[in-house]
Amino acid sequence: MKKVLLLITVSLILNSCKKEDEMLITNTSTEIEGCMDTLALNYNVLATTQPDGSCEYNVEDLWGVELPTSNFPEYYFTSDVPLSQVDKIRESYEIASTAWGNYGPLEYWIIGNDVTLADSLDIVFCDTRLEKDLSLGNNDYQACLNRGYNFVDYVNDGGAALNLRRNQDDDYSVFIITHGSKNPYPSDNDYAVIAMHEYFHVYQQAHIFTKNEQERSSMLPVNPWFVEGGATYMAELLYSQQTNVSSNYLDEVMEWKMQNVNNFLGLGIRIEDIQYADGFPNTQYAYELGAWFTAFLIHNVGHENYLVNFHDDLNDLGFEQSFVINFGKSSQEFLDDFHDFLNLSISEQLDILP
Ligand SMILES: [Zn+2]
Repeated sequence: MKKVLLLITVSLILNSCKKEDEMLITNTSTEIEGCMDTLALNYNVLATTQPDGSCEYNVEDLWGVELPTSNFPEYYFTSDVPLSQVDKIRESYEIASTAWGNYGPLEYWIIGNDVTLADSLDIVFCDTRLEKDLSLGNNDYQACLNRGYNFVDYVNDGGAALNLRRNQDDDYSVFIITHGSKNPYPSDNDYAVIAMHEYFHVYQQAHIFTKNEQERSSMLPVNPWFVEGGATYMAELLYSQQTNVSSNYLDEVMEWKMQNVNNFLGLGIRIEDIQYADGFPNTQYAYELGAWFTAFLIHNVGHENYLVNFHDDLNDLGFEQSFVINFGKSSQEFLDDFHDFLNLSISEQLDILP
């Protein structure tokens, strides 16, 4: 959204450079751009026009702060979503935030199966953005309404995702998790596992503080093996530890993941080369192999080193340095060891699971 605005701004500047002479003669406007809101930090008494993003406000930044358990997420859902489904998300969040720490601010947006209701909630979503971030304006609002993947897409395609609102233009940073209802279906076990998976992404991103989007993305590998593998395995592991879950659950689900990647492994592609890109046919294998990589890593370095120490050092050291310091080898060496591990029998592989 902001990138589009930035591009428009840049092209306006380029355009105005060409016409500079002309503008000097014709531009007799006395408009002064600036923040006209007296409540803002940068209120400009001389301003006569206020473009989007002109005002800055004093917003408490809770990003990366471990919050007290009394600090709950907000839940928004379409009216066709049964309360039992909201409860399942809430319960999964409570389990995950108790296990990994409570991070926020966090909003859940839960979408049912009705396109019209999803469309209406989309308007509530964009209204909420404007209400919570006073630095946003009408162009941002229109961009929100026209954004690429909106709630109607969740009705049609299902799925779940974490979106981050943390960049240099927005004053208010927030984690936004959206859950569809089509796939996985709310009564499936997967629904709870997916909710924990998305919350693990919150945990990962809460450990990167910068508002610079380029810096943020440089802190973790671009390809999904580490980030998705971590979320997939940590969610399956946490789910397997719940009292109502069969004691074979983790072995069974991990064996299934390994069987699923068998043919793919025959192609000789390394897990770190599998891309995120939409339509890339092998992305799912990065989730499954990445889950096994995370299990292998934790088996070798310990749960605390993976979950706590690595993530605590991530912001200061960056991915590779934090990896080496906490795990004792480079990521490339660990990936080589993991590819050797993939040659073991399934029973030997299952032996590393807790
Ligand atoms: Zn994910």
